[in-house]
Amino acid sequence: MILRSCALLMLGLLALAGAAPGHSATAEPCPTLDASRPAARQAINHYLCFYVARPGEPAHQAASPGDLNPGLSWQLADGHDLVFSHTDSVYWVKLRVSNTGDRQNLWYLKLNYPLLDEITFWQNTDHPNGHNPTTGAVPPLVTGDLYPFATRGIDYRYFLLPVTLAPSEIRTITIRVQSSGALNVPLALMTPGDVIAESNHLTLIHGLFYGALLILAVFNLLLFFSSGTRYYFYNTLYISSMAMFLFAMGGFANQYFWPESTKLANLSIPMLLAFCALAMALFGWSFLEVRSRTLSESALRVLIWSAAGCLVLTLLLPYNQAILINTALTLIVIASLLVIAVIRWQQGYQPAFWYISAWMVMVVGALAYAMAAFGYLGDYLAREVMMQVAVGGQVVLLNYAMVQRWRLMNQKLLDIEHQARSELELKVHERTAQLRTIMQDLEQANQKLALLSLNDSLTGLHNRRHMDNLLPELCREARRTGQPLTLALVDADHFKRINDTWGHDFGDLCLKRIADCLNQQVKRPRDVAIRFGGEEFALLLPGTDNAGAAQLCQNILDAIRASDIQTPNGDTIRLTVSAGIAELSTDEQPDELFRRADKALYQSKAAGRDTVTLAQLQLPEESCNTSSRN
Ligand code: GH3
Ligand code: MG
Ligand code: MG
Repeated sequence: MILRSCALLMLGLLALAGAAPGHSATAEPCPTLDASRPAARQAINHYLCFYVARPGEPAHQAASPGDLNPGLSWQLADGHDLVFSHTDSVYWVKLRVSNTGDRQNLWYLKLNYPLLDEITFWQNTDHPNGHNPTTGAVPPLVTGDLYPFATRGIDYRYFLLPVTLAPSEIRTITIRVQSSGALNVPLALMTPGDVIAESNHLTLIHGLFYGALLILAVFNLLLFFSSGTRYYFYNTLYISSMAMFLFAMGGFANQYFWPESTKLANLSIPMLLAFCALAMALFGWSFLEVRSRTLSESALRVLIWSAAGCLVLTLLLPYNQAILINTALTLIVIASLLVIAVIRWQQGYQPAFWYISAWMVMVVGALAYAMAAFGYLGDYLAREVMMQVAVGGQVVLLNYAMVQRWRLMNQKLLDIEHQARSELELKVHERTAQLRTIMQDLEQANQKLALLSLNDSLTGLHNRRHMDNLLPELCREARRTGQPLTLALVDADHFKRINDTWGHDFGDLCLKRIADCLNQQVKRPRDVAIRFGGEEFALLLPGTDNAGAAQLCQNILDAIRASDIQTPNGDTIRLTVSAGIAELSTDEQPDELFRRADKALYQSKAAGRDTVTLAQLQLPEESCNTSSRN
């Protein structure tokens, strides 16, 4: 659809190029414009006469109005702009102005088209009683792009011819124009005040326009430096080349950049046009992210190389050909980029939409420019403003397209980050669960280890370490609560003999039997049975006094004595144990309690074994040394 529109657009432009604006021929003399009447000045196109001198005609060779055939058939512009397409003709324009005011006055004849190669103004005061122009005192003004800018007389990008008329003076102004390229001769007769006012307004508009483009170009360049993204750089290239092109088209470049160089004045426009085409293609190439090894990519390559080629060719070709080729190149680049952008958009590349919008605006601008180039857009000012609006709109939309692209990239990054975060969270969950399981295993292993470290492996009773931990604690608790605490030591009688007689394994069996017995008898939840040595056991009995402990120990002794154990050789034997009991007394330390219980056990052994002895409350000083039984 868009492709077809572009093709139609190109065809339309070519058709336009074939035709030429019409002007009606009228007989001489040209009417006289009364410069003192504003309405007459506004209608200047009704007073202009022109003659198109084709190559070979005498008027083509004529160097001044005096050389022209007096019978030359001048044509009346008849209200039309003087707009001509590309020809080699010389254009003669004539205007008769009078001053019906009663004082001498100054007006400016303004030629609103800055790009003419050669233009000469003659001013001749008419003889009061006849129409034969006589040479006045005003010398001819010879200027144009083929001459340095200073030849214009007044430092203004348009041509300004001062016309000073005495009261009742009638003057004929003759203009000879020769130029390659499109030829516009938009004339206006203005008072100095009008010229200043118009210049002010245009300065404001141009200042805003070029200022905005400059800022955008610098901004994009900074973005390129900070991000390294290429399309920012190509956008800078495009904005600056387009700004420079319009600057040159508007006559500013001749005025400010190369006022002395007539060569650059003529070369700059086709040059900058090719440069614009190159920058457009480069920007499109990097912005649209065309997939490699596709037709679009090949087309873009061709466009880029063609634009570069045309840039070089401009240096070699004459202006006339260069401007035509480069205009065609630019139109082809714009159309191709539009098609490629549409393809990319259809492929789902969202930023291409804004790029297409920008390009559609540019098509309007290009159309305006091309129409002007072929001589179909007369109002130079309107064309200039249209181009500025189109280029300004396009540049803004292109920058918006870049913002959209940035947003897209940002969104992609955010999605990736979000996905990465979700995956990370999942992994953290998994790892935490694994860690928890490991921690539980470790906890169980620790508990097992603690159990093992505090328990005796043979009998399953608590071991010495447990007693060492627990006894001081129970002592402190008993002191705090005032509850009794009793320690009973139980030792197997003549155990060495059992071992020696039936072997160590049988000894172990006996020890287990004793442990079982202890476990059965010790029933209170807080009572603790301990194997703290080879055949030595201890009972920690919180809340139990001497009498209770004695009773318990007696029960234990009775139970052990009553249980038969079968030896490896089939005999049955009976075990006995002895016990010593000590109840914690006030301010007593755990080791003192232990010594007293041990002493009591020693007494049981000494009393013949298989007996229970209660320790004395006060341990005599001297008995401390005899507490060890072995
Ligand atoms: P007393 O009646 O005076 O206590 O005599 P005893 O033989 O029991 O005392 P002694 O301290 O002389 O001997 C203790 C014996 O206990 C020595 C050792 O053979 C035995 N024994 C110590 N630990 C173990 C053990 O873990 N397994 C076995 N089977 N025997 C042990
Ligand atoms: Mg023993
Ligand atoms: Mg012993």
